[in-house]
Amino acid sequence: MPAARMSRAVIIAVGSELLTPSRIDTNSLFVTQRLNELGIRVRYKAVVGDHRDDLADALKLALSRADLVVTSGGLGPTDDDITRETVAAVFGLPLDEDEGVVASIRARFSARGLPMPAINRRQALVPRGAAALANAKGTAPGLWIERSGAACVALPGPPRELRAMLEVVARERIAPLSSGHGIFRRVIRVTGRTESHVDEAAHPVYSRWRSGPVPIETSILASLGQIELHLAARGATEDAAVGALDQATSELAGVLGRDLVSSDGSQLEAVVGGMLRERAARVAVAESCTGGLVASRLTDVAGSSAYVQAGWVVYSNEAKAALLGVDAASIAAHGAVSEPVARAMATGARERGGVEYGIAVTGIAGPGGGSADKPVGTVYVALAGPEGLQRVRRLSLPGEREQVKFQASQAALDLLRRALLR
Ligand code: AMP
Ligand code: MG
Repeated sequence: MPAARMSRAVIIAVGSELLTPSRIDTNSLFVTQRLNELGIRVRYKAVVGDHRDDLADALKLALSRADLVVTSGGLGPTDDDITRETVAAVFGLPLDEDEGVVASIRARFSARGLPMPAINRRQALVPRGAAALANAKGTAPGLWIERSGAACVALPGPPRELRAMLEVVARERIAPLSSGHGIFRRVIRVTGRTESHVDEAAHPVYSRWRSGPVPIETSILASLGQIELHLAARGATEDAAVGALDQATSELAGVLGRDLVSSDGSQLEAVVGGMLRERAARVAVAESCTGGLVASRLTDVAGSSAYVQAGWVVYSNEAKAALLGVDAASIAAHGAVSEPVARAMATGARERGGVEYGIAVTGIAGPGGGSADKPVGTVYVALAGPEGLQRVRRLSLPGEREQVKFQASQAALDLLRRALLR
């Protein structure tokens, strides 16, 4: 019988600083990605401070749940670096000083013209039977301990050291124990539907994939101004996984129709940019409450000079009238946040920009400025296009100022995307 393949991992990030508001564990994201490529799923992850008991308990639990435990951090030479000793204690292994490791640490110091401090000897302690993993970017060696089908790998905390060491250990030690059935992911973005409505449409489709020959797991995430479907396929080969994802994506496109923004992870501004480029059309932008965010997002895309003509931030009523020709009487009659003003701003941008499409945003981002009939979050987005094409939408957006601004920019870009779909 072939040995059971490694399939489940737990990641433990060690470091008291990671429990403060000022530092975040990013190593685990990188580790997760690399393990996924080898077909190993992360079952859970934990962040523990530099405390022996906490780390020992976390390690014991992890070893009972996973066949691979990856720790990051705590391999330094100082007193608060406890990973080496704690791992050895949990596995019940004595620590031996490794002369080869001492020599390589001493060599690192002498290359900088320095003697090796005595405390660095601690880094040369290796649990008996474990392998010391060379650190190409620093002094702290990593550890690899394999025992009855399970393994524990301890990696250094500094991200560049961890990355370099993980690459080697993944290739040389983890890959041979894994199934090789890599997990490949795809992100699908959807606008114009709530999370529940996306699920309602997509569930009958994706529930079938779970038990297919290439199983695909799906999760639906609501994010600002859009819904994301995250697909993860596990295939014997990359081609098989990608083929299954292609098939799944086209089935989803069938049920989501025009609400599907992208199925390759592209952001809305990149999708709109691609469409403008394909149609050899250009856009000009008139923005009030978004303060230039729509133009900023459009120009985040490399090569956007091919289709972005101009943008106006017309925050005051005078600027709306002077720069875009919005009728001052119309502003006085309907207010700056109104359908006629949004329409006039889009038309003004289109005409003054001399382009095919003008888009406009005007709204109340808050926290002040709301009223009974136009509460905070009231936003109008408008579009003016060729052959008299006009579109206006009134939105009631939830959230704080920053969220309202982002969702308003999202709505304006989406209005253009839908017009370009025609
Ligand atoms: P250590 O190996 O615990 O001495 O960590 C050394 C450095 O790596 C510190 O600056 C840490 O903030 C950083 N570091 C440790 N763990 C992580 C982690 N999980 N993600 C990102 N940085 C980390
Ligand atoms: Mg530390």
